[in-house]
Amino acid sequence: MPHVITQSCCSDASCVYACPVNCIHPTPDEPDFHTAEMLYIDPQECVDCGACVTACPVDAIRFDGSLAPNETLFAELNADFYRDGRDRPLLAPPVPALRVRRGQDLRVAIVGSGPAAMYAADEILTIPGARVRIYERLQTPFGLARFGVAPDHQRTRGVLRQFDRILADPRVELVLGTEVGVTITHDDLLASHHGVIYAVGASADRALDIPGADLAGVTSATQFAAWYNGHPDFADRRFDLSGSRAIVIGNGNVALDVARILTMNPDLLADTDIAPYALDALRDSRIEEVTVVGRRGLEQAAFTVPELIGLCATPGVDVVVADEQLGILPADDARAVALRGASRRDGNRRVVLDFLLSPTALSGTEPVRTMEFVRNELIPAADGSMRVKATGESHTKEAGLMLTSIGYRGRPVPGLPFDEATATVPNDAGRVIGARRAYVTGWIKRGARGFIGTNKYCAQETVRSLIDDYNSTG
Ligand code: NAP
Repeated sequence: MPHVITQSCCSDASCVYACPVNCIHPTPDEPDFHTAEMLYIDPQECVDCGACVTACPVDAIRFDGSLAPNETLFAELNADFYRDGRDRPLLAPPVPALRVRRGQDLRVAIVGSGPAAMYAADEILTIPGARVRIYERLQTPFGLARFGVAPDHQRTRGVLRQFDRILADPRVELVLGTEVGVTITHDDLLASHHGVIYAVGASADRALDIPGADLAGVTSATQFAAWYNGHPDFADRRFDLSGSRAIVIGNGNVALDVARILTMNPDLLADTDIAPYALDALRDSRIEEVTVVGRRGLEQAAFTVPELIGLCATPGVDVVVADEQLGILPADDARAVALRGASRRDGNRRVVLDFLLSPTALSGTEPVRTMEFVRNELIPAADGSMRVKATGESHTKEAGLMLTSIGYRGRPVPGLPFDEATATVPNDAGRVIGARRAYVTGWIKRGARGFIGTNKYCAQETVRSLIDDYNSTG
């Protein structure tokens, strides 16, 4: 019986290199690795050895025969990926080992301690004798892996154990409560390290540029998520959960996370890492419906299929989509199957997925606010993507809680160049352009997209650039 990769896949591809028959794809060297929503096991080729199960850091791989009822769709999703056949070598090409030409005294400073930083540290530690010092602004490490991953995604949070193991290496030093650029400068770090890797993420929110967006009571989904995950900068925040409806603008995976946390039975969160004050607030919540609004259609929605399946499988929560949107999808499309299975049941809370609406203005006073929208139509763009054009038809929706979930933005790093348009530090394969011995990895390098494991391959590229420079210049 074959194995199946399920929702918590982090795409770090540890399973790919554990597999003796190369039946897990896309592999990091394949072009679709960078766009795939997860990795998939070919059921025809899997020899059922279980090596991938042991290698997976987030417990995402199951025996086909032991899938929970809410996971069976993943067997289809894995098999579908191979429906048209796929050429592949006998084994996935391994990542070449890093070699340091002179001596064994490489010292690297890493700024930040989230997934991008930890994968960079792990990569540097493959070099015998290399040492890493990690600087973290907060008193707790691991960034978004701790303060961004939803508390009910306990398997994904399993990656924290892997990061703990990296920190336990005696060649790693963790310096907490130190903000580089404030208490210590880039030049200070260069004085005692061969290179500095900035893995500072994208800690700002993209701003919704409409009248009323700055009204009290309107906040971002990322701040709400940081609050329920116990982030010290947000622990004192209060959110009004007394109304019956919340609206989330944007429909990426963060939007699904907050919609799920707002509607699921709080008892299911009791044994998770959720902040106790947030669990208390959710127990008192009167919210019955969360409307997640996308500016494009269901087919273009930013959420991934695995996360939609997960949302649809949440006990006590209906997921509702208008028939005309659902009808656009082929009947056997995994999204359509998942949505049809999340049908309306009495007594359930609901997540409504609404589409083709762009917010234009916010008004009203607490406790109820009004969001004005314009209806969009889809226009094909020259690059093959779908853009939107306003039709002029307007709509309003009222809610007690308004969350914007339209993506993260990087912040400028003191002493480094910054591209305002992409909110990233300009770089060439991780080398910061125009700065001495400075490197970037993660979201500050490539923008706020991808999964936890995506950072592993991003870090490998950056560390390779650092080592090439070290080897060529000393
Ligand atoms: P995202 O995936 O980039 O989604 C942003 C959403 O905001 C899109 O629906 C986008 O619409 C919309 N949007 C952007 N500007 C807008 C505007 N001015 N008006 C209205 N809508 C607007 O961002 P995210 O949800 O913050 O996620 C960031 C990354 O983290 C993603 O790669 C995501 O997959 C990842 N993540 C993964 C997980 C997980 O695997 N469980 C959990 C959380 C986050 P358009 O599509 O039309 O641009």
